Amino acid sequence: SLKVKGPLYNEVTDPSFLCMSSELATAVESRRNFAIISHPDAGKTTLTEKLLLYGGAIHEAGAVKARRAQRHATSDWMEMEQQRGISITSTVLQFAYQDCQINLLDTPGHQDFSEDTYRTLAAADNAVMLVDAAKGLEPQTRKLFEVCKLRSLPIFTFINKLDRPGREPLELLDEIEQELELQTYAVNWPIGMGDRFKGVFDRRSRKIHLFERSGHGRREAKTTIVDIGDPKIEDLLDQDLYFQFKDELEVIEELGPELDMEMVHAGLMTPIFFGSAMTNFGVELFLEAFMDYALKPCAYHSTLGDIEPTYEDFSGFVFKLQANMDPKHRDRVAFIRVCSGKFEKDMTVSHARTGKTIRLSRPQKLFAQGRASIDEAYPGDVIGLNNPGMFAIGDTIFQGKKLEYDGIPCFSPELFAYLKNPNPSKFKQFQKGISELREEGAVQIMYSADESKRDPILAAVGQLQIEVVQFRLQNEYGVETRLELLPYTVARWVKDGWPALEKVGRIFNAITVKDSWDRPVLLFKNSWNLHQVNGDHPDLVLDAIAPVTS
Ligand code: GDP
Repeated sequence: SLKVKGPLYNEVTDPSFLCMSSELATAVESRRNFAIISHPDAGKTTLTEKLLLYGGAIHEAGAVKARRAQRHATSDWMEMEQQRGISITSTVLQFAYQDCQINLLDTPGHQDFSEDTYRTLAAADNAVMLVDAAKGLEPQTRKLFEVCKLRSLPIFTFINKLDRPGREPLELLDEIEQELELQTYAVNWPIGMGDRFKGVFDRRSRKIHLFERSGHGRREAKTTIVDIGDPKIEDLLDQDLYFQFKDELEVIEELGPELDMEMVHAGLMTPIFFGSAMTNFGVELFLEAFMDYALKPCAYHSTLGDIEPTYEDFSGFVFKLQANMDPKHRDRVAFIRVCSGKFEKDMTVSHARTGKTIRLSRPQKLFAQGRASIDEAYPGDVIGLNNPGMFAIGDTIFQGKKLEYDGIPCFSPELFAYLKNPNPSKFKQFQKGISELREEGAVQIMYSADESKRDPILAAVGQLQIEVVQFRLQNEYGVETRLELLPYTVARWVKDGWPALEKVGRIFNAITVKDSWDRPVLLFKNSWNLHQVNGDHPDLVLDAIAPVTS
């Protein structure tokens, strides 16, 4: 495919342009963007807070947490509006650390786990996999990992809560290797665990960072660092712990692989860090290594080939849309990942899907607790645009030569329900609402293969998506709807479509529906049924993720 390169490939003589491209190259060089993938309670909020603390974005830990407590306390819809405000502000957190600009993309979890959680990974260059040392890999982490794998994202693993009793470190590494088929490279190695957690050995500097139990980790932790050869160590550590640590270190250093950055960047090897986010321990070691190892903003594939971030024309794509729940302020925010060039406020861009020209006059960069308007942004950054309704998930905006990014796929929904409109006089509004909300990417819409069942099936990754659709149908389209839940939890697209399905004949333990593009989808009650069908029909290829078709 045609490669569109940045400054190197342009014949440039205009000095103002040269100046601009070196500014762009510097900005790209200093940017690191990542999303955290984890299961609820692994410590994502805590780790995020500690990263912000080390980044100097907040001065005392507690702010992010307080916001979440607020979120848990809210329940009804007008309060949900407040929640929306909260999740808007946390869509991306930008902070500086040393010479880097770090963008942490928030992956909605807990009760707002949804397709947006997966889509956010389409805008990330790196993923941090956060694992609870006592629990190891958990379901939500595995699902998010699959999405990272699809994009070959580099994965950095932080094994958390070492201050509490947990599983053996070697066993945790083994689980990651076996289950995720990822090679592991421990960048640091823990000494003891739980009550006897003494610290970690940093293989980069070959020094031991001693853990001190201090406060509640509100401020940066002070650590004592000693050389591995220092005779003091034997006094500082209990002898049995020291020998156990030496043994384990020998195992990983002699039997484990070398750190291979090409493999890390291809998503085939994960650097592993141990720590305790709550007590700040290991957070800074992690951040420092992350900045060295993480991928800088990467190229994205488009109709013009791979677009490098240093390509001088601005371009980006929409990965998330958020509707305001307040009927008096029906604005929407479209979140755009900047892929190339420099974004400037009031810039005029083209909208690839419609060919329209738009002026980006009210961009917002969303930071910590407040919204701040921005004037410029670079590749790897996220900007929020007030969206009058023209944007859909996956849309490209660009300057210069026309290009369109690949778009974001559909992810396997887990909740299914017939949506019924009990009032025939509202038929038109109902159809319009469903079609617009689907286009916007709020939910997937499927239909029974049985023509006599005309009601649309809402197919969602999370409960919140369904609630939002019902709420917006009522508020924006004046249609009150009823749900009839369906007993399925797994969806798979049939690889070669209807002909493949006809070939295998009748399938037990699944029902067939079709998606909005008339593609066949099988719904299963549980993954056990999916395995049965896989076993019964080895030739039938089933996909958990389907490409977008516009
Ligand atoms: P999230 O659901 O992934 O955002 O997790 P939270 O950050 O809210 O943490 C879940 C619980 O684990 C909270 O009670 C935290 O205080 C606790 N926690 C987080 N990190 C650590 C840690 O390093 N050690 C211990 N002991 N508890 C932790």
